[in-house]
Amino acid sequence: MYRRFLLVMTLMLALILSACGQSTGQTDSTGSPAASSAASPDASMMPEGSASPAASTGAATGGEPMAQAPEGSALRAIQDRGKLIAGVKYDVPLFGFLNPTTNKVEGFDVEIAREIAKKIFGNPDAIEFKEAISKNRIPYLTDGTVDIVVSTMTANAERAEQIDFSDTYYVAGQSLLVKKGSDVQNIDGVKGKVVATVKGSTSEKNIREKAPEATVELYDTYADAVQALQSGRADAVTTDDIILYGFQSQNKDQLEVVGGQFTKEPYAIGIKKGSTELTEVVNTTLREIKDSGRWGEIYKQFIPEQEVPAVPPQDWREVK
Ligand code: GLU
Repeated sequence: MYRRFLLVMTLMLALILSACGQSTGQTDSTGSPAASSAASPDASMMPEGSASPAASTGAATGGEPMAQAPEGSALRAIQDRGKLIAGVKYDVPLFGFLNPTTNKVEGFDVEIAREIAKKIFGNPDAIEFKEAISKNRIPYLTDGTVDIVVSTMTANAERAEQIDFSDTYYVAGQSLLVKKGSDVQNIDGVKGKVVATVKGSTSEKNIREKAPEATVELYDTYADAVQALQSGRADAVTTDDIILYGFQSQNKDQLEVVGGQFTKEPYAIGIKKGSTELTEVVNTTLREIKDSGRWGEIYKQFIPEQEVPAVPPQDWREVK
């Protein structure tokens, strides 16, 4: 009697287990968006190599890994770890944006970082992304949170005292984003108005210099600054035009970029001071993608509404 009971229980258990196995298998293979976004809703918990894979970014796949760098170098530590750690924006459309549908970061900066991972490891997916908002970029490099910062970062002499910069990979210029129909149409129009921008950005410094009679409100992220504009707490947002164009394209009916460029912002990759071999491989990658036409492809992919410009000059000091 007892034996038969045991047999029935074992059979039931086996049936339950096999049913569970099947349903797990189905969830995995269909990969419903709801299930995957619920599984990892927190951007900071994104898995390694979480950028879009080659199929969705157009990045070339594979290649030979580079030779081992000298023991003790920053580059060798990255090679030994088996992945590059890059700080990028998560809220800047076109450059570094955490796509809520795919839960992956994408954009011009992200793609450049993936090209560097490809150069080092022969694999653009050998990379982990961390969110580096403007005020965190230099501390993240100096404390070793990230290996490189590719985060709409302007290279300038003041920052170059604390970190090293690669060659230039993009040239932006500061501008203004306003609500359509706003009486602010250029830099002179912000006199007596509230202008939102981000802590730790060149935009903050520049707007104070160029429009001392504006009230500057500071936010942690550009998404928050745009929110302030949309809710009427600010009359304009100021930062690099290409960041503003990204927000404009998400809100074409409401927002517009005005006033042209009133600064030049050469973007370069931030690297901890003294990381000679790493800086060298970053610059080799940038020179190769500029020479091969890959730079133009990346531009077209993420900034399709603009004509592809000439590649930027190597040295950020030449951008005036
Ligand atoms: N490119 C400027 C900077 O590095 C403004 C954009 C930003 O804050 O990322 O400060």
